[in-house]
Amino acid sequence: MLVSENTIDVIVIGGGFSGLSTAYYLQKKGLNVKVFDASGRIGGRAKTDQIDGFLLDWGTHFYHHSTTELQKIINLTKLGLENIYPGYLLRHNDKFLLYSNPMLKTIDVFPAIFANNISIKDKLRLFGFSLKLKALSYSNIVKQTEMSTLQYFKRAGFSKQTIDTLFKPIISSAIFDRSLQSSSKLSLLFLKSLFNDFVSLPKNGIGSIAEAMVKELAPASVCLKSRVKSISEEGVEFSDGRLIKSKAVVIATNAIDAKKICCKIDLNTESTHVSTIYFETEHPPVSKPVMVLNANEHGLVNHVFVPSLLHANYAPKGKHLVAVNIIKSNELDDDELIAEVMVELSGWFGLQVKDWRHIKTYHIKYAMPFKPIIDDVEFTKHLKDNIFYAGDALSIGTMESALRSGRETAENVIQYLKNEKKLSSLNK
Ligand SMILES: Cc1cc2nc3c(=O)[nH]c(=O)nc-3n(C[C@H](O)[C@H](O)[C@H](O)COP(=O)(O)OP(=O)(O)OC[C@H]3O[C@@H](n4cnc5c(N)ncnc54)[C@H](O)[C@@H]3O)c2cc1C
Repeated sequence: MLVSENTIDVIVIGGGFSGLSTAYYLQKKGLNVKVFDASGRIGGRAKTDQIDGFLLDWGTHFYHHSTTELQKIINLTKLGLENIYPGYLLRHNDKFLLYSNPMLKTIDVFPAIFANNISIKDKLRLFGFSLKLKALSYSNIVKQTEMSTLQYFKRAGFSKQTIDTLFKPIISSAIFDRSLQSSSKLSLLFLKSLFNDFVSLPKNGIGSIAEAMVKELAPASVCLKSRVKSISEEGVEFSDGRLIKSKAVVIATNAIDAKKICCKIDLNTESTHVSTIYFETEHPPVSKPVMVLNANEHGLVNHVFVPSLLHANYAPKGKHLVAVNIIKSNELDDDELIAEVMVELSGWFGLQVKDWRHIKTYHIKYAMPFKPIIDDVEFTKHLKDNIFYAGDALSIGTMESALRSGRETAENVIQYLKNEKKLSSLNK
C-alpha cells in the first residue's frame, strides 16, 4: 500500500519525551509534524497503567526539580507534583537507618549522625562532598576528568564500607548500575540533582507528563500503533506497508530500536535494566514516601517505594501500592521471583508481607543507556541526508536529556531545511 502525504514536513518516529519535544519545537516554527509510535500509548518508557484502581508507573520514576526543560513546554502546576522524602531509608544488616538530606530536611538529621554503617570521618567527608557538589555547576561536572564511579569515590577517600552501603544503593536506585562501572560524571550529575533539590511524582502518574505534552501539540499530531520498518529514499516505510514521504525524518527511539530502523546508526546499544513488581496491601511497610534501599550485598531487592503514601490516588481507598525494584540479573521465572522477593521482604518488614497481593510485574530491558564514559556530550545527531536522531542514547538516561535532545534536534532540522531551501516560510 502506498500512501504519500506530501504535506508532512517532518516525520518523528517515537512518542517518548524526545519525540514529543522535537515535534513541539518544530510545530512552534509552523511546520507540519506527525509523530508515529509503534505502541498503543504515548510516553515511551515513562507510561502509567491503570489497573483495578491502582496507578502503575512503568518502573519507579521521578521528576527532578533541578531540571529546566519540561517547564519550557508545559505548565508544571497542572501535574500536581508532590516531593518524595528528601533522603533514604537504608536496610543495612537487619536494621533500618534513615539518612535524611541535611540541606532539605534539617529536622531529621539525628538518625544519620548515629547510623553505624559509616564512620564519623566519612560522614564529615560526605557533608563536604555534598557542599562541593552544590557549588559545582552541571557544565563543570561534564568537564571533569572521566573515570568509573567506583574509582571516583575511592579517590575521594571514601571507605569501601561507605561505598558499598551508601553510594552503591543510591546510584543503583537512580541509574540501575550497582557495579559502579558507569561514568563518574553521570553519577555526579545524578547526585547533584538528588542532594540539592527535591524529586517528585505527578499526581496521576509519570505517564501524565507525556499526556500533558501532547496537549501542547496541534490536534491529531500523534499516530499510535504505527511501527516504522525502515527509511529509504522513497520515504518512511511502516510494517503495515504504508509509505509516507516527508522533507525530514527524526528517529526518536532508544538505541536498539533506532538500529532496527537504520542499522548504520553509530549508537551504543548497551543499557541497564530493571524489573518492578507491584503489590497491594492494606498496611504500608513504611510511614513516609521515602526510597527504601538495600544496603546489603546479598538479596535480590534493590529498592522499594510506596507511591500511595505520596499520592493517595495511586491506590483505591483503604489500600496501598508497593513498588519493589530488582536490578540483579537472575534466572527466576515471574512466580519464583515474586515468591523470592516476598520471603526477602518479610525479613525487612515482618510477616505482614505474606498478605501482600501481587498486581503486575514490569521487566524493562532497556531502562537507561549504560555509559562507562561520557566524552563529548551531544544531544542531536544528523545521520545522513534528511534523517536525524534524537534521544537519551546520545547523552544520559534522563527525561531532561531526552527533552533537550528533542529541542536541539528541532533546531538542527530547521537549519537543514533552511539550507536545503525546503521551507517556504517559517514562524519567527
Ligand atoms: C524504570 C525507569 C526509571 C527512570 N527514572 C527516571 C527518573 O527518575 N528521572 C529521569 O529523568 N529519567 C528517568 N528514566 C529515564 C527516562 O525515562 C528516559 O530517559 C526517557 O523516557 C527517554 O525518552 P525517549 O523519548 O528518548 O525514549 P523512549 O521513552 O524509549 O521513547 C521511544 C519511543 O519510540 C517508540 N518506538 C520504538 N521503535 C519504534 C518504531 N520502529 N516505530 C515507531 N515507534 C517506535 C517506542 O514505542 C517509544 O514510545 C527512567 C527510565 C526507566 C525505564
